[in-house]
Amino acid sequence: MVRTKDVNTLVTEIVCDETNKSCMYRECTQCKDKVPNFDYTNDNGEQVKWFEWKTRREEIVDKGNDRSRTVTKTVKDQDQGTREVLASEINAEMQKACRHIFNIRNQYKALKYLRSNLTHEEIMVHIDFSENYACKYSDEIQSMHFGGSRNQLSLHTGVIYLRDEVIPICTVSDFLRHDPAGIWAHLTPILKYVTEDRNLTSIHFISDGPTTQYRNKNNIYLWGHKIAEYGFKKSTWNFLEAAHGKGAADGVGAAVKRAADQQVILKKNDITCAKDFYQLLSGGTSTSTVKMFLVEENELKKVDAELPSDLRPIPSTMKIHQMIIEGPDSFATKVVSCFCKHPTTLLCDCYQPDTHQLPPRKLPADDEGKQLKQATEETSKVKTSMVEKASSIQNYMCVAFLKTCAVY
Ligand SMILES: [Zn+2]
Ligand SMILES: [Zn+2]
Repeated sequence: MVRTKDVNTLVTEIVCDETNKSCMYRECTQCKDKVPNFDYTNDNGEQVKWFEWKTRREEIVDKGNDRSRTVTKTVKDQDQGTREVLASEINAEMQKACRHIFNIRNQYKALKYLRSNLTHEEIMVHIDFSENYACKYSDEIQSMHFGGSRNQLSLHTGVIYLRDEVIPICTVSDFLRHDPAGIWAHLTPILKYVTEDRNLTSIHFISDGPTTQYRNKNNIYLWGHKIAEYGFKKSTWNFLEAAHGKGAADGVGAAVKRAADQQVILKKNDITCAKDFYQLLSGGTSTSTVKMFLVEENELKKVDAELPSDLRPIPSTMKIHQMIIEGPDSFATKVVSCFCKHPTTLLCDCYQPDTHQLPPRKLPADDEGKQLKQATEETSKVKTSMVEKASSIQNYMCVAFLKTCAVY
């Protein structure tokens, strides 16, 4: 039917220019209707069979967890029809494949450029959640105490790129949330650490784009407001295309888990909680060179309190691959990343950027508490002066009444 097994060859057959977004997004008037050179020799209109990868959603229940969760499974399914039907299926797949291939190549190229051209004031942070770590006792028999469900730890791993330095990092917590509040609780010690003795003005994030974690309104809100807390004036967040292959953050996750297992097996240490994990991996006996941080549960609560509950979603969030902050109160989004005007500006005109207003910052709970206290003090001052006045006219009933008011 087609003379090649290589999808890249098929792409070259149907586009004018593989590096042009408009061709690859099938929007170019010159090539958008071009199809691969299908081979119809010996076609008598008979039925043919083919395999197709299909995704299915399934409900699963994790061990030791009562709640079910939905997972997407990819399965190989057989289909049949005429060669013409098969050709139209291939065409439909090619539309998606071209866009996907363009996104993968573009993100790789743009981020490689950024990394090689980082200034002294810039930092690039590539982050990802590693699979949770199951706690282990050095005495395996004791693991029976856990029953079916071992205690789990959450690991957020990454690599920090500075102009002249690369630092592998890992934050560990007992809470297992991978949502935006969880992400920013994990990012807090990292941002404190990198800004402690450096004069940084721009921060670039790189992550996958799952809508439950990094690519959603809550993460955008937290990103938009929290970077300024650490002195950053400009920022980008770059999403890697799905199925881009394993990244640097995966390597860090594997390395810390291996080092943790060595502590249990060779050094006979128990890892029962995040603190154990953190202490053993930052200690002198650890083989790991990954910079470790412990994230306490109260950090998560603080971030939770900062999140407004009425944020509106950003249109077409799923298509966004870059978000850019060039100044206060607003940000831009793009379908793919571009750094062609870097470092002068992070926001170039390429790929039709959309501008959005950043929702105003919700007052952190601490400030709210302070304001409330201040308001209460003011009210009590007023009440005291009323009490004094009341005393002067010796109206004991009134004084008693006002005192009661002041107490409340
Ligand atoms: Zn074209
Ligand atoms: Zn550009």
